[in-house]
Amino acid sequence: MLSLFRNHVYRWLFLCSVLLGRAQPLLAQTAPTPTLLRPAAVFDGETLHPGWQVLVEGDRITAAGTNLPTPTGTRILELPGLTLLPGLIEGHSHLLLHPYNETPWNDQVLLEPVALRVARATVHAQRTLLAGFTTARDLGTEGADYADVGIKQAIEQGIIPGPRLLIATRALVATGSYGPKLSTDVTVPQGAQEADGPEGVVRAVREQIGHGADIIKVYADYRWGKGEPARPTFSQEELNLIVQTANAAGRPVVAHSSTPEGMRRAVLAGVQTIEHGDGGTLEVFRLMKQRGVALCPTVAAGDAIAQYQGWRKGQDALPERVQQKHESMQAALKSGVMLAFGGDVGVFPHGENVREAKLLVQDYGLTPLVVLRQATSGNARIFGLSDRGRIQSGLLADLVAVAGDPTHDVSALRQVRLVMKGGVIVKQP
Ligand SMILES: [Zn+2]
Repeated sequence: MLSLFRNHVYRWLFLCSVLLGRAQPLLAQTAPTPTLLRPAAVFDGETLHPGWQVLVEGDRITAAGTNLPTPTGTRILELPGLTLLPGLIEGHSHLLLHPYNETPWNDQVLLEPVALRVARATVHAQRTLLAGFTTARDLGTEGADYADVGIKQAIEQGIIPGPRLLIATRALVATGSYGPKLSTDVTVPQGAQEADGPEGVVRAVREQIGHGADIIKVYADYRWGKGEPARPTFSQEELNLIVQTANAAGRPVVAHSSTPEGMRRAVLAGVQTIEHGDGGTLEVFRLMKQRGVALCPTVAAGDAIAQYQGWRKGQDALPERVQQKHESMQAALKSGVMLAFGGDVGVFPHGENVREAKLLVQDYGLTPLVVLRQATSGNARIFGLSDRGRIQSGLLADLVAVAGDPTHDVSALRQVRLVMKGGVIVKQP
């Protein structure tokens, strides 16, 4: 009886400590009073509205427009000269990678302990958030197993600052297709989970979901050997089963793919987005448009890798890969396929996410307004995130203020002055 009583006391003490811990997280404190933000203009995810104001209560936007009613005790935040935007959404990141010109990808996967990689990732998460990206789709740990699950939890529990994450955990590759590849005599850990055949792929998808994957990422093609072009990996049957299994569990599938055949199979299987698409043709982009599959072009990654390989941008002619990217992007734009916004950040420094936007405008001829829509309302729609991506009553108070007008000059996105996530100011003006 006494021990039963003692058990109850312990349980209560435990519960209290949990509740206290929850009440005082390290970083996140929900704004207790309503806040009225008064910038020069508001980009609501679609259009620029000069003179608009935004009211935030708790973790939500409760009003946006002119002449807003302000509840008593409302805190006024003057943001003169700034444009307020929805928190930006990174469509393709790898928080567990750092730039390949610092450490080659093979060495990151094989030589760096997971603890080191996680320590770096916490810094990457903070830089991403402070750059105005309040949500990120993190598309694979690249050999760090399920480390992204814990990083996501640390952010959600307010232990470290970072964006809201959608994570892909290990990603799926066909056996023998991925890397690192050393001597043929040595078997080394791979950058993603190998799986084959109907039973194998179904099992791997379920394992990843069971461990916490929000998204299943599959490599629909890859170079089988060094110096080879990419070729399709998974069969149509395997891809179909991967998508069916993931979708049945409420998870979308995204496909790394750069060959027309790999892209075609992934699209027919029903993936949500194609990542990269470097060798995409007008025909396959038209198929994507028809099936409602978006392209996440990751132009910044190719641009960075070409420069790591010695391309002196602005001086030398375009390297073949970059030239090919220009051609496929022209075909993509002509087809009218939806574009998701994502740079494959990790290949280049975290916190530099805006580089993708700059290159899309400067090198690929998109307008700043189109790119801004992609990085906010567009990504939210494509990724099925109906609670964010716009400045609208009822949505999450994930907001960013930048100096100048990014709808005319995309480089204004680098001038981040304020970041608010869920009503909490994480970067002050
Ligand atoms: Zn990637």
